[in-house]
Amino acid sequence: SIATTPPVIRQLPPNLVNQIAAGEVIERPASVVKELLENSIDAGAKRVELTIQGGGSELIRISDDGCGIAEAQMPLAVTSHATSKLPDDEMLFHVGTLGFRGEALASIASVSQMTIRSRPADADIGSELNVRGGVIEGPAPCGCPTGTVIEVKNLFFNTPVRHKFLKTTQTERGHITEAFTRLALANPDVHFVYRQGEKLLHDLPPTVRWADRIAAFFGAEIAESLIPVHSDDSAIGIDGFVCDPSVSRGNNRMQYLFLNGRHIRDRSLQHALGESYRGMLMVGRQPICFLRLTMPPSMIDVNVHPTKQEVRFTDGGRVYSRLLQTLRHHFLTSNLTQRVGPPA
Ligand code: ADP
Ligand code: MG
Repeated sequence: SIATTPPVIRQLPPNLVNQIAAGEVIERPASVVKELLENSIDAGAKRVELTIQGGGSELIRISDDGCGIAEAQMPLAVTSHATSKLPDDEMLFHVGTLGFRGEALASIASVSQMTIRSRPADADIGSELNVRGGVIEGPAPCGCPTGTVIEVKNLFFNTPVRHKFLKTTQTERGHITEAFTRLALANPDVHFVYRQGEKLLHDLPPTVRWADRIAAFFGAEIAESLIPVHSDDSAIGIDGFVCDPSVSRGNNRMQYLFLNGRHIRDRSLQHALGESYRGMLMVGRQPICFLRLTMPPSMIDVNVHPTKQEVRFTDGGRVYSRLLQTLRHHFLTSNLTQRVGPPA
């Protein structure tokens, strides 16, 4: 063959890199909501307000009363791989799925029009930063209360393919509400407010009783059927509630699992849940649960993509049997009001 001059190798421009990264982190408006709510929680907020317009791609606004961002740090907040949450190198290998990636704001800002207004408690005045498709303007001084307000407008305006894949307003709202629910359940001590347009959907006062937060969300029927579950294994802590078998669902969407304060999905643990209800539910019915697990990070495999809800345990069998045993124990000792159907 004929020798030709090799093509020039170039680095992708940073905006494009961020847009590509955004494709992994930001699938849909609900991903933005999840990332921003997590940031507010990380900032120590005690009150967080979420407002969306339409299905969220028009507008997502989150305001919090957390620690705020210093003016000089504002551009770094939207720079990829920049984070204030990396404790030290040693910790890096123990963070489990709680990855501090420092790329959420950069990713969101690269595919939207974002405004950040923020003021730390010790600053006299706040500052504002505008980012449009990754292009930064500011920061400029502005008046604002202590904490942070982030507005994300016109999500995916510069990535038409992504925009086209958005589902109906109703569907996108459903995903946002689910993301909100998970964060609000994981943090009962935080006051959460959720509005769709002018409509107030949730106003959840802070509480120390998890059952109160669950009741505020899911109503009396669920609240009255909660059976407390508790286990003090030296390594695997389990605490929360399962629902009386007389209250069940046709799908498994009301099986809420939290690991070290974060929502997770785990087929194996859901299987353990199903096993413990064996013979107590009619065919096709699924149990409801709200369970918080605590485990040392060494028991959680770090090699799972941090945005995924899935986790991998270093000893999955042990976690499975711990949960199954705990639930069985509670069913044997609790007074179930009724049994539905014959045992399998
Ligand atoms: P990460 O959360 O992984 O650090 P992000 O891109 O989500 O990455 O955020 C970048 C940084 O911006 C955070 O580390 C934090 O310092 C700052 N930040 C983001 N949101 C807030 C907020 N609501 N309040 C205070 N600081 C924030
Ligand atoms: Mg973050």
